[in-house]
Amino acid sequence: MNWDAVSAVGGAASAAAGALSVYFASTTIRSAREAAKEQAVHSERLVASQTANETYNDYLRLCIQYPELSSYDVAKKRFKFSSPSYVRAACTIDTERYLWFVSYLLNACERIILDSKDGSDWHDVIWDQLDYHKPILTEMRNVWASHYYPALRRIICDVTECPGCEDCQAEDAGIRAT
Ligand SMILES: [Zn+2]
Repeated sequence: MNWDAVSAVGGAASAAAGALSVYFASTTIRSAREAAKEQAVHSERLVASQTANETYNDYLRLCIQYPELSSYDVAKKRFKFSSPSYVRAACTIDTERYLWFVSYLLNACERIILDSKDGSDWHDVIWDQLDYHKPILTEMRNVWASHYYPALRRIICDVTECPGCEDCQAEDAGIRAT
């Protein structure tokens, strides 16, 4: 028996086993790091979506509490609003309350977009809620535009069928907040 050869093979085998275990160890460390990173991203998304959900729930609660303000049509019937321009100019307790309610909604929509990072999941919900107030948003669009981020302004433009403004032209506004 060629013991030198056997020993050389043995040495090579143990070196290979060593290299393999280093490889597996580094692979394990890397997968653990990747898993931790994925977990962190997942947790961050979960927290963000919970925050967005809470914001939306708060708004829904307000709608249940004040159903007469939850859409332009209901408010119009309840408070006998003659037109959106009347609501804008009248300065009565009812018109102010309705305008503040819509401001609360816009603020909630913006919070949802910001909190959910990628607000695309919420696009249809936001669109529908804004659509309930389309007449007053159309009336106030230009006044309120500067108060909100481009992503929300873009949805307001879509809902109110804006004939064209800076927000409509912004190609990258999309649902993103900035
Ligand atoms: Zn526009």
